[in-house]
This record gives sequence, C-alpha cells and structure tokens, in this order.
Amino acid sequence: MRRLVLFDLDNTLVDRLDAFRRWAREFVAERDLGEGAFEWMVRLDEDGAVPREVFFRRVRERFSVRESVEKLWGEYRAGMPRMVECPEAVLRALEGLRDAGWRVGIVTNGMEDNQLGKIRRSGLGERVDGWAISGAEGVRKPDARLFEIAAERCGTTLADGGGWIVGDDPVKDVEGGRDAGLRTVWIDRGAGAWPARLAAPDHVVTDARRAVEVIMAEGGGAG
Ligand SMILES: [Mg+2]
Repeated sequence: MRRLVLFDLDNTLVDRLDAFRRWAREFVAERDLGEGAFEWMVRLDEDGAVPREVFFRRVRERFSVRESVEKLWGEYRAGMPRMVECPEAVLRALEGLRDAGWRVGIVTNGMEDNQLGKIRRSGLGERVDGWAISGAEGVRKPDARLFEIAAERCGTTLADGGGWIVGDDPVKDVEGGRDAGLRTVWIDRGAGAWPARLAAPDHVVTDARRAVEVIMAEGGGAG
C-alpha cells in the first residue's frame, strides 16, 4: 500500500465540543431560552454521544419548541459546519505529511451533509486525498469496512498493512483501526483515562499535530 494516515474528524482534526458550544449559545440566544438553558444543552449533548434525534426531541419538550425534530436537526446540520475550525498548525501538519509522500484521509461517523460541510468549511477538503462518512456509506466505525472505504478513496488499500489511524475514541477509532490492520494513535483530550479493558494504543498524544510528528518519526512500513 501507499503510506496512509487516516484521521477521525470530530475532536481529532476539529474541535467538535467547541463548535457545539458555539452552536448552543446561538440557539439559546436566538430563542431567548433563558438562564441555565445553555448548560442544560451541553450536559444533554454528552460530548456528542447522544443521538441527535433524542437530543432534539428533549430540547423540543423542554423548551416547548414548535418546529419538528426533523427541522431542528436539519438546521443543526446546516449550522454546525459554520462553527467548526481546524487549527492552522494541524492544516500545515497535514500538508507536511502529503509533501512527504503520505496519503491522508478522513474516516468519520455522522450524517453526510453535516460532516461534509465541516470538512469543506474547515479547509480540510483540499488537504486530504479522500474521506469516508458513515451516513453516506451505510457502515459505521468501528466496522473495518469504513476504514477500507476511506483507504480506497485515498487511492490505496489496507490489505498490505503499514497504515495509521489517529482518533480520540478508544473503541470507534483505536480498536476499529487496529481491527482494520492500522497502527494507532489515540488523541487523549483529557476527557477520561484509557479504558483498562482495551489493549493500549501504539501512541498517545494530546492533539493531531503531535500525532503527525510521531508518525513522521516512526515511518510507515511498506512505503
Ligand atoms: Mg472523534
């Protein structure tokens, strides 16, 4: 295979939590939802773990919002990409990887319009070779097939080994990536310790820029 690094998107290449907080602040202000509404929404979000259908059903009930869950969710997917940024240092690190001959891809769970909007608006679209979004492919991480699709979109395959996955989710990214034959870098956001029941990742770093440094230093096997 050509040397390949796959990255998770949310809370790996972009700060999804920060984007969510900005979106929630706007939502609360526009609708004048009052004291405590913002904090309640951040708790309900559970760092993105709660399905959006559940999230908006509860928001609707709590604040007696008139619009349907579908409409609220659709507006959210249209709005979130505006809130997302990829740090300049990470964009430059990805350019460095590609300049050094690596293929670079994104493998992400989520709805296609939302994730694609984030990829394009953050400047990531021009800095990667391809991506696989679960909502478009009908398969989700940690299923190895989504990693394989991402590799194909980058013009390569996982079959020969030597690739890397970088992500913040121990199961979806690290376990999933390992099962797909990739070496693993876990982004430790300080949100919780590595789960003791799982095999350790190959490397632990605090952000995507440092992940690129580790991978460049270690090289990539089959070149
Ligand atoms: Mg993530």
